[in-house]
Amino acid sequence: MKLSVRRGDTVVVIAGKDRGKRGTVERVDREKGRVVVEGVNLVKRHQKPTANLTQSGIIEKPGSIAVSSVMVVCGRCKEPTRIGHTVLADGRRVRKCIRCGEAFNQS
Ligand SMILES: [Zn+2]
Repeated sequence: MKLSVRRGDTVVVIAGKDRGKRGTVERVDREKGRVVVEGVNLVKRHQKPTANLTQSGIIEKPGSIAVSSVMVVCGRCKEPTRIGHTVLADGRRVRKCIRCGEAFNQS
């Protein structure tokens, strides 16, 4: 699956219980079309104490959400935007903000 979201992007959640939250993309699962966003869709996991890990109890970890539930936030206009593509002078094809035309560093 071809996704326009990359790890390290700032995204805003546009659907579900975390709608409106912003965070950084920690992981992208291209095959499933899902992303893990810092602080979003936190799920509680029961952590059993082990020999190496003394902390026990409930920890919260971000769970994955569908990539269609997030929009990339442009670093320049700071608005959620759809992503277009543009070709730079050196031939590199990069993503760009549909709103302001800003090219994103990573393709
Ligand atoms: Zn922009």
